[in-house]
Amino acid sequence: MTKYTLPNLSYDYNALEPHISKQLLTIHHQKHHQAYVNGANTAFDKLTQARQDKTEIDIKAALKNLSWNLGGHVLHSMFWSNLIPTDKTKGKPDAKLLDMIERDFTSFERFKNEFTQCAMTVEGSGWAALTYDKMIDKLLIMQIEKHNTNIYPALTILIVLDCFEHAYYLDYKNEKAKFFEAFWQIVNWEEVNKRLEEVAK
Ligand code: FE
Repeated sequence: MTKYTLPNLSYDYNALEPHISKQLLTIHHQKHHQAYVNGANTAFDKLTQARQDKTEIDIKAALKNLSWNLGGHVLHSMFWSNLIPTDKTKGKPDAKLLDMIERDFTSFERFKNEFTQCAMTVEGSGWAALTYDKMIDKLLIMQIEKHNTNIYPALTILIVLDCFEHAYYLDYKNEKAKFFEAFWQIVNWEEVNKRLEEVAK
């Protein structure tokens, strides 16, 4: 049976310094993300086993568990490719995406501000995400509480930002605003563009 696996990062563990330290990135990727990968596989195994054994299973709990782990795996995978090494950073999206952001949010600064507020106000653990709704041709920001919202969002995610404490505590302690500020220094705008072009086709 095909299993979920931890994707390799496309950059070195120290490539995001000083915004994300080598130690933090290593733990975040190898421990936290790996735990979601393992958890998603285990959750699927339990469902498969129960089906084979024809035994009763608490479906609500099983799906919640799967959602928590699979959501974590999918979102972390997107998060890693949303980031770019510090020495390659551009700081701003290309003209076309920038136009779109300015069209929908009035300015790039306003967008960054709203996105950061979205990240700052996540209750407990969760994510801030930029998505694109093809139906109305609009960019929109969404807050994802934890990862076990029991949904696999249909709107294409262009940017996600990890707002769990494990994403910043080692480097920033209680000052998560500083982490969210630093995040903008290492956004991979080309990847954002690529995802947008893919969905807007
Ligand atoms: Fe995380």
